[in-house]
Amino acid sequence: MATSIPAAKNRLFKNIFICKSCGQKMRTDSIRVIEKTVRCRRCGKKSFRAAKSKKK
Ligand SMILES: [Zn+2]
Repeated sequence: MATSIPAAKNRLFKNIFICKSCGQKMRTDSIRVIEKTVRCRRCGKKSFRAAKSKKK
């Protein structure tokens, strides 16, 4: 298994956030999540979590 490739992990997870309400994946900057300028395209909520933390 080619698991730990740091560049690939960064590319996959760095700017991916998941909506806390509906689970929609969004690719955006973390600064936008912090500033709450990004909105879920499915449910319209503004609360996201980082994609790498699997548990809630
Ligand atoms: Zn949502």
